[in-house]
Amino acid sequence: MVSTGKHPASCEKAKGHVCRCGNCGGSQHGWKGWVEFAREPEQVRVERRSSILGKLTEWWSAKRGTRLGSRAGEVVMDLVRIDCAVWLAREKDGSVELPRQRRGPEAAPGASSDDSQSMTEESTSGAPAPEVASVDAGPSAAHGEQPDRPAALAQVNAFASAMTEGIWQDVVEDLPGSPAEVREIRLELADHGWCDLFIGFVRVLEKFGKAFDEIPDRAKKIIVKTIHRSSRSGKRPLLTKYVVGIIVDKAWAAFKAATVAHSPLLAVLTSEELLRNIRMLAVFTCPAPEKHEEVREHAVEPLADDVQGYVSDQAKEWLTKQFGLPGREVRVARETSA
Ligand SMILES: [Zn+2]
Ligand SMILES: [Zn+2]
Repeated sequence: MVSTGKHPASCEKAKGHVCRCGNCGGSQHGWKGWVEFAREPEQVRVERRSSILGKLTEWWSAKRGTRLGSRAGEVVMDLVRIDCAVWLAREKDGSVELPRQRRGPEAAPGASSDDSQSMTEESTSGAPAPEVASVDAGPSAAHGEQPDRPAALAQVNAFASAMTEGIWQDVVEDLPGSPAEVREIRLELADHGWCDLFIGFVRVLEKFGKAFDEIPDRAKKIIVKTIHRSSRSGKRPLLTKYVVGIIVDKAWAAFKAATVAHSPLLAVLTSEELLRNIRMLAVFTCPAPEKHEEVREHAVEPLADDVQGYVSDQAKEWLTKQFGLPGREVRVARETSA
């Protein structure tokens, strides 16, 4: 699993909003750094957050309210990621209400564009109870509600680790071509390949909720299509259907294993929580959500819209200023406060 050898910290910590890491092909980009960041003392997050907010405010007043440049787009996305890390860190301490099943896993706007057949959604109510709670319950066990539920941060980490570094070596071994060609494929994968993969899973969960398990072939097709039709795919000619299929098959098996086999995550998590985990993972992994439309639409925006408060009001306001996200609620709030 640690077969990538020395992996550069600059990739893990997502220094810069681009990934050209041939080492991990982008599979370890960002998420480790953000998970670690969520484990730091709270003061670290408070300081980084306020430094970013200070910067944005300064730029905004210098520009007198015209749309800020691309650097500001990067900084706004970092703010969103910091907020997600703040939320994860708090949830770990049990100070935030656990998400409940408020809404069903109905398709989010835009989620059903390419596939109009509908399926019954929640059909897992009769799922067999897990035999053993093998996942580290973590501090959230203090909730007393569902003692075998891992903390939110541990959930994100479990999916990230299983679906990226857990499969990376196998993926590399199966990639076709000479070592030089394989290296090119690895570099193309680093160009938003993994965030597209996670967005594929998000779209499956948006559409089918926890019933994803019953339609593996259809679900995998949706994921492959998501990667293929991504707004980023023009720069990735080597990510053929065959190559993408290899990755999707392995990531799918890893996702299933994370939800079913090794731990009872599927039994204890709601569809919404599964979605939250994979959306956060997409946002953490994406080298530049400001340049990746699908990540904004299927991860940043729904996270920002969620009443759980994954994203702060301040970040939402900056998302609106910079990207016109996340839609009506914030715009109304801005209009009334102006
Ligand atoms: Zn890397
Ligand atoms: Zn991306």
